[in-house]
Amino acid sequence: MHIQIDDKDFNLLIEYDQIKKRTRLIGIQLNVDYDNRVPVFVGVLNGSFVFLADLLKEVTISSEVTFVKVSSYDGDKNTGVIKKQVGLQMDLKDRDVIIVEDIVDSGATLRYIIDMIREQNPASVCVCTLLLKPKSLKEDIEEITYVGFEIPDEFVVGYGLDYKGLGRNLKDIYRAQYVPSET
Ligand code: 5GP
Ligand code: MG
Repeated sequence: MHIQIDDKDFNLLIEYDQIKKRTRLIGIQLNVDYDNRVPVFVGVLNGSFVFLADLLKEVTISSEVTFVKVSSYDGDKNTGVIKKQVGLQMDLKDRDVIIVEDIVDSGATLRYIIDMIREQNPASVCVCTLLLKPKSLKEDIEEITYVGFEIPDEFVVGYGLDYKGLGRNLKDIYRAQYVPSET
């Protein structure tokens, strides 16, 4: 399937059905790994809100949820400059923290968030990300424990992920169509 958002063309990459199945399995794993603990899910806004909502429906253990908001992208370009938009609203000292991301690209955003959370001396920190681009990962982040899908180093939209603010409401995930340059 092919769609257009603003000036860009996209092709279907991952269907919602697959996402749902994978999310279910991650949820089951979390229920086992965090049995008898009360973890705090820290959703990274904006992109993770759809994944986090679906993931939490599969989590049956007692848990809390909070959010942080950072930004590094402008359109489909990673500016490399991370800006904190909304800081931590909760005391995470001695808590088991599960950071929930939509996608890990270079890893810079995640590194920034992990450092921010570690300052509060939590009992543990792990990362659950729906998507991971292994080829563009520049940081060695040992906290990445749960990964939905590894994807190629391409720009994706849908299921919470946007292009110029659009496309977050798409049920499936799409990748930007490669346009050969004319040079
Ligand atoms: P990183 O700091 O790992 O390079 O980038 C992470 C953040 O950039 C993600 O949380 C996400 O907001 C954004 N990002 C990275 N790759 C993509 C992509 O392919 N599509 C969209 N929509 N956002 C992306
Ligand atoms: Mg994100």
